[in-house]
Amino acid sequence: MLKRKDLLGLIDASEAEITEILDLAQDFKNRIKRGEKKMNYLDGKTVTVLFYENSTRTRTSFEQAAKYLGATTVNIQAGTSSVAKGETLVDTGKTLDAQRNDFIVMRHPMGGAPYLLAKTVKAGVLNAGDGINEHPTQALLDMLTMRETFGSLKGLKVAILGDIKHSRVAKSNLFGLKTMGAEVAMFAPQTLIPTGLDKLGAKICASREEALDGADVVMGLRIQLERQKAGNFPSLGEYAANYGVNESHLALAKPHAIILHPGPVNRGVELTSGVIDHDRSRIEDQVLSGVAVRMAALTLLNEYRKEQGL
Ligand code: ASP
Repeated sequence: MLKRKDLLGLIDASEAEITEILDLAQDFKNRIKRGEKKMNYLDGKTVTVLFYENSTRTRTSFEQAAKYLGATTVNIQAGTSSVAKGETLVDTGKTLDAQRNDFIVMRHPMGGAPYLLAKTVKAGVLNAGDGINEHPTQALLDMLTMRETFGSLKGLKVAILGDIKHSRVAKSNLFGLKTMGAEVAMFAPQTLIPTGLDKLGAKICASREEALDGADVVMGLRIQLERQKAGNFPSLGEYAANYGVNESHLALAKPHAIILHPGPVNRGVELTSGVIDHDRSRIEDQVLSGVAVRMAALTLLNEYRKEQGL
């Protein structure tokens, strides 16, 4: 069983833990598809969603997940809270604890911020993206869509192309997929590949073709212009031409290969519209997987809290 107060990253998640989350998430996903939207595993609990960065999918799917589980949700927009008055993260955490929140879902621009929060609060903390560090529930939802398609993650070749350097999604996927026995091939301009990823198990490819060759999954990542102070490539047009994926590139991947993207997508930059809207694209399915995975994470963390008397 998932014996954790918090879900902060996949760097230290075991195969058994990931499997447990995916199994329960698959069950929730099937139930949502059948129209079930009230599953009271979090009855009487409060989930606070504290975002210091923009989001559409992650924020709404955490809220939806908590609501489907019967929890009360509170939404804090950092710009409209006392954070804008200079309150520290630790003090914000103390306030949320004093209000008896059971879970805090946090997105923060600084890597490591959820670790600091988790250390100081009694509530369970779920990392919804910390800077360029990790985004564990995104990788879990990606893995859920992959596992549902192929039955297992073992032996899959997952090609990840795009802004790997600034991507917390790439890192969480690398950790999770390697643990689950998949191969992770990455390709980007050299300026968008951080050093050391190969030591963490990624296969850094010299060309788009090498990354896509025989891939089961083609994952595009957004060029994160908001995190790029210096120009890492000449222009978006040149990026698209030299590093983006179009329909003819897809022919290199396996005929059954699926296309993923965490969103938001820069249409025509990392993937062309033909790829995004392709019949093998599972980008919309990822969104439903997102709700299910977040329900599973909250439920399992709550089971642990019950066991611990928290
Ligand atoms: N939504 C993902 C994230 O928050 C990917 C992205 O923003 O490009 O990391």
